[in-house]
Amino acid sequence: MNTKHTHSFQAEVAQLLHLVTHSLYSNKEIFLRELISNASDACDKLRFEALNKPELYEGQPQLEVRVSFDKKARTLTIADTGIGMSEQEAIDNLGTIAKSGTKDFMSKLSGDQKADSQLIGQFGVGFYSGFIVADRITVESRRAGLSASEGVRWVSGGSGDFEVEQIERAERGTSITLHLREDAEEFLNAWKLKQLINKYSDHISLPILMEKEEWKEGENDQPGDMVKTGEWETVNQASALWTRPKKDITPEQYIEFYKNISHDSEAPLTWSHNRVEGNTEYTQLLYIPAHAPMDLWNRDKKAGIKLYVKRVFIMDDAEALMPTYLRFVKGVIDSADLPLNVSRELLQESRDVRLIRDGNTRRVLSMLEDLAKHDRHDAAAVTEGDVVDVVSEDDKAKEGKYTQFYSEFGAVLKEGLGEDFGNSERIAKLLRFASSTSDGLTVSFADYKSRMKEGQEAIYYITADTLAAARNSPQLEVFKKKGIEVLLMTDRVDEWALNYLTEFDGTPLQSVAKGAVDLGKLQDEAEKKAAEEAAETFKPTLARLKQALNNEVEDVRVTTRLVDSPACIVVQDGGMSAQLARMLKQAGQ
Ligand code: ADP
Ligand code: MG
Repeated sequence: MNTKHTHSFQAEVAQLLHLVTHSLYSNKEIFLRELISNASDACDKLRFEALNKPELYEGQPQLEVRVSFDKKARTLTIADTGIGMSEQEAIDNLGTIAKSGTKDFMSKLSGDQKADSQLIGQFGVGFYSGFIVADRITVESRRAGLSASEGVRWVSGGSGDFEVEQIERAERGTSITLHLREDAEEFLNAWKLKQLINKYSDHISLPILMEKEEWKEGENDQPGDMVKTGEWETVNQASALWTRPKKDITPEQYIEFYKNISHDSEAPLTWSHNRVEGNTEYTQLLYIPAHAPMDLWNRDKKAGIKLYVKRVFIMDDAEALMPTYLRFVKGVIDSADLPLNVSRELLQESRDVRLIRDGNTRRVLSMLEDLAKHDRHDAAAVTEGDVVDVVSEDDKAKEGKYTQFYSEFGAVLKEGLGEDFGNSERIAKLLRFASSTSDGLTVSFADYKSRMKEGQEAIYYITADTLAAARNSPQLEVFKKKGIEVLLMTDRVDEWALNYLTEFDGTPLQSVAKGAVDLGKLQDEAEKKAAEEAAETFKPTLARLKQALNNEVEDVRVTTRLVDSPACIVVQDGGMSAQLARMLKQAGQ
């Protein structure tokens, strides 16, 4: 007996559906990308589960997606031979949102359609995007390994509830039929569908098939039309993008692939695609995004690296393949050496994984070095007649990118100083700071060193909550007077990160807020003498101050670091800086 059961959507889903259908109608076509990507995920899952259970193929190893439409019935169907769903899975997966980010997603929707549609993929609302173009969706499915009588039909009009019933279904996998709204008839067109598949799903490693059509002249004055031939053809390239030779891949294809794996709607800043051979063999395709995601600051956030083993998808978010401070990098690693049944636990211990992670780290750092090299934020300063290096189009395209990268991810990169000692020199070279004599995050340690005054023996820096606070700090007075540049550090991680960097290229780093600033050779004899005399003259005053501030301070000293201000607080060398103390206090410590 067939019984239909009606279920209500989880409240969040109902709300989401409303938002999706009302805010995304100007970008209707993304539904196809979402549904094909689900079909592809389902095939990946089957391939993976079947590694240990080949019987799941049920004698039909072909994994594919078929896209078809029926003009008269106004339906579009996307069918796959993937893992399929049981009745319970259909209820769970297509009626609730398991992901915690959904509430977040909804609060982020701005009402601006373009911006909102960019957010859609990020929170796994993919399937529901079907309701942008359909007023009813029928899903028929059977999980691989279940009997033919354990198929499921799921039907919904996308508002409030859905119906589920058990059906007979001989073939495993899922077919999703969209009953298109009147204003979505444009998708009942083979040419249009092929164009979209080409645009969004070309890199999908499964064949996507469509039925061939041919032109048939109309009879008895009827207009001609395209008619189906019953023959299916593959309409995408059907080879995983990263497995193709570089020269066969266009920038547009790289960018589209990035958008697909990252759910970012914007093009990445740069990418790097390599086949690495040596102690372990793998293909590496890594991207640096143009913008920081909302949860960048969450260090537990999963890395954006997908792991494949010999083209079989193994897992998303393979954090073992990238150090935490490079968690913003997206991409794919396809290993030739890891076992197919590798688990997260195993990954942590694998020597191959360690080699891959080191290789990835080096690659990302050199991508960044390359961007930094071509950044040329001073390009405008080049005047006619100057001899300029010949700049290739490629190089030109990189202009300004490092500045952009740094404003988005610079603070995360700094975490590397404390996390990756082996590369700390390379990381330090990539850092940029504001300084007392320049604006913006543009000063590298090397720039700073090249401008050091004769006799200056340290790289001076100050940490503060804001740039204004840093600039106006009394600690800076003597440096201003002597024309010595001071780096201004205002990122929360600076204080912590600089604990790990005591020198750059042989020059020590010195906080201007710590200890007795010894300007060494920068101070002339007269100044030194005056300071010594003052210390002598004010000895009784100092003693009284110290007594009055009993328990509050370690010492009271005459200083040469001030010019206009009467007094300032400094921290003992090696002591916790005021900035760090404030941070810890904020954190409740
Ligand atoms: P996501 O793909 O990010 O998980 P979706 O909304 O696109 O989110 O899909 C929700 C869930 O529905 C999927 O995680 C999967 O469990 C299930 N699903 C969707 N489409 C299919 C399909 N073609 N075959 C099997 N399961 C599917
Ligand atoms: Mg999806």
